[in-house]
Amino acid sequence: MKASLVSATTIALFMSLSASVTHAEEVSAWRLFVSDHADPKVTVIDAVDQQKLDTFQIKGPASLYRTESGETVFAVQGDAGVVSAISTGISFHDHGDHGDIEVEDAKLLDVEFVGAKPAHFVELQGNVAQWFDGEDAARFFTERAILDGNAEVRTANVGAPHHGVAVPYQNHAVVSVPNPEDASKRPIGARIVDFNGNQVGEDAACPGLHGSAGSGSLYALACDTGLLLVTQESGVPQIRHLPYSASLPEGSSSTLIGGKGLQYFIGNYGPDRIVVVDPSQGDSGFKLVQLPTRRVHFVVDPIRTRFAYVVTEDGQLHKVDVLDGKIVQSLRLTDPYSMDGHWSDPRPRLAVAGDQVVVTDPLNGKLHLVNAESFTKADEIGVDGKPFNIVSVGGAGKVHGHE
Ligand code: ZN
Ligand code: ZN
Repeated sequence: MKASLVSATTIALFMSLSASVTHAEEVSAWRLFVSDHADPKVTVIDAVDQQKLDTFQIKGPASLYRTESGETVFAVQGDAGVVSAISTGISFHDHGDHGDIEVEDAKLLDVEFVGAKPAHFVELQGNVAQWFDGEDAARFFTERAILDGNAEVRTANVGAPHHGVAVPYQNHAVVSVPNPEDASKRPIGARIVDFNGNQVGEDAACPGLHGSAGSGSLYALACDTGLLLVTQESGVPQIRHLPYSASLPEGSSSTLIGGKGLQYFIGNYGPDRIVVVDPSQGDSGFKLVQLPTRRVHFVVDPIRTRFAYVVTEDGQLHKVDVLDGKIVQSLRLTDPYSMDGHWSDPRPRLAVAGDQVVVTDPLNGKLHLVNAESFTKADEIGVDGKPFNIVSVGGAGKVHGHE
């Protein structure tokens, strides 16, 4: 444990003077959920005092997704055909003029979904869409129901099994449209449906659809031709197409991440470039960022909102200024992880936990912790096996009794 860091249970940074909030402790808690490249497990680590909290045995190696609330982490085990849910143990409660934090043990929930080739996972405003590449229907449920132990789902037909995606809204979903000649090829568009088997409006063309992300009120799907941007009008999704700028070289995105606090998207654009997209700027809203070598993984910083991080195959972590579209700092962290070889080989993955950027180093069995402000390496945490996919949840809030 580091003396300069503080654990969730031991600190009282601020005493509140407000009448309605008495004897409040300000508590900061961050947890890392780390899956293994080979073993069916998820390790839970307290990112504040750097202690391992738990290890959950699941059915197969997992991709991890956290919900917006941070109360749930989903472990999508594609090869094992199972999706597991973990209650992170950290929750926030809005009390109007302040927020409360509640910290409990993380637990592997009893609820799980079995199906053929579970793949892309999307959560929006507590609604979840879980896609199964081997099935002709996507499944929809709410985070709340899962936390309450309820595994009931709604479904929407997607024509034919394919590697696609569904985006969940209250009473509708946006689903990918499979290639009618060969569903094993990339989807050709997106369709708005309800949960009674009805289509709403016309299909939106999106050749080569792959990759999607949310940013604020917008949800984006990447196509060969540009991005489809989904908004809601009185609760009903609407889709418009934003073509790639003519100023960009030939190419397209197939992986997207979305800004938090600032509305933007970042996509891959060729193996060694990324593109920052400000959807409010139309044709001039695309900024291409050249990387020194090929990209391994990228994330946005939800706290220092103008920055994102990219790890490249030469073992460097880069801090990207999203507004300027430039790399502002680089730091060598790991041995090289060449992008030659299989796409699913063990390579670093990134998460941001409070003031730390966390980089998994699967071949060395550790996590590198980088201070997000100074952009210097702060510490490392050993994790058994090949720590691979990672998500973080947490934040700060008050702990106190309400009258
Ligand atoms: Zn409160
Ligand atoms: Zn995919």
